[in-house]
Amino acid sequence: MTKDLIDGAAKFKHYHYDADSDLMADLVKVGQDPKYFIISCIDSRCNPGTIFRAKPGIFFAHKAMGAIVRPYQQGTALAAALQFALNYNKVETIIVLGHTQCGAIKALAEDIDDPEISSFISVAKHSLEKAKISCDNEHEIVATTERNTIRESTENLKAYPSVAKALTENRVAVKSWQFDMTNGNLLEYNETTDKFEILITNTTIEDNRNHA
Ligand SMILES: [Zn+2]
Repeated sequence: MTKDLIDGAAKFKHYHYDADSDLMADLVKVGQDPKYFIISCIDSRCNPGTIFRAKPGIFFAHKAMGAIVRPYQQGTALAAALQFALNYNKVETIIVLGHTQCGAIKALAEDIDDPEISSFISVAKHSLEKAKISCDNEHEIVATTERNTIRESTENLKAYPSVAKALTENRVAVKSWQFDMTNGNLLEYNETTDKFEILITNTTIEDNRNHA
């Protein structure tokens, strides 16, 4: 049942322990020093470790449905993780990473009748209401809600005490990113243009399937 996972772990062990690599040995010996903290959706298709092709030690990861950041409350998993990342480690950039075709946002738009889920995602209702005013069809409403939610989550994030303090001290940047699942593009919200703009496209990298 879990053969695919065990096979993957065997490859990871081979490349990062048995083969000629000191990366994990150094990370164990010296400790970690990640520069990024990524808040992403639980969606299986946009795992940041996969889409950023990141080696171990690059970022802290926090996952929540829709990459939603609820308003600050002491004692939550996210508040504790941010405190650890910013006050006991030297994270320089926090990224709220949403994505297209998000099941959480679709559930919100369809007003899912499941209190366990709706009690969490309902915080993004404001993003949905705003989208309903500016869009005419269902598809546009969901797509705009996805982006509005990323921005709203980023604003909520900035009010977490650890983040607010780090922002005041100018030692952290907070970014709103979106992974477009339909074409692999990565976008960033630009406050000046008030738009999500493409950071990279598939064509900026030379095709080399041997390294895929
Ligand atoms: Zn999602």
